[in-house]
Amino acid sequence: MNPVEVFSLEVSAFASNCHIIRPAQSDRVIVVDPGGDAETIAEFIRLHGWSVGLFLLTHGHMDHVGALADMADQFPAPIAMHRLDAEWAFGMKNTMPPYFNEPPRAAVISRDLQDGQTWTDLGLTYEVLETPGHSPGSVSFYFQEQALLFSGDVLFAGSIGRSDLPGGNPRVLAQSLQRLLTLPNTTCIFPGHGAKTSIENERAHNPFLRDLSWAD
Ligand SMILES: [Zn+2]
Ligand SMILES: [Zn+2]
Repeated sequence: MNPVEVFSLEVSAFASNCHIIRPAQSDRVIVVDPGGDAETIAEFIRLHGWSVGLFLLTHGHMDHVGALADMADQFPAPIAMHRLDAEWAFGMKNTMPPYFNEPPRAAVISRDLQDGQTWTDLGLTYEVLETPGHSPGSVSFYFQEQALLFSGDVLFAGSIGRSDLPGGNPRVLAQSLQRLLTLPNTTCIFPGHGAKTSIENERAHNPFLRDLSWAD
């Protein structure tokens, strides 16, 4: 097993988590959702003497891709995202005044994520799970060997993602959540906002998972 460290930085006006995955002993990292505050993220990486091997995007919302172009300028690396979110992520639809008046600056998406893909990067193998409902192209990244899940804005500690934003759908979100619940209890979840949690915790305590009537 290739152990990893995960560092979570809170960025952007919406306090999004930018997760930095570092394989043990490695000086290259994977950056999940550089949502804002590029300088904060860049400084954290530089202070440790690391470089970026890959950018992973759970979805296209401004608070998750806002610093992508600035980061990719400084740390050139492949960028992976689902096409259904890449379509609108860098256009005027992806604004929310007064917090985000301009759309995120575009970066070149070099990898089109699709359900069931298995990738190996920096010696780490992970699966792409399409988990739409919060946005059409929302994905979760599942590192089975390390028992880690990066769930974006689909599943949070004690809560779930909104399904009332453009492209959202509560029934579809409910299906995505049920799919995540099939993962092993021991899976540690790093969500797009808030504290980390586990499948076991959410199965036991998340009120939105116990009663899915909100989806009807
Ligand atoms: Zn979102
Ligand atoms: Zn978010």
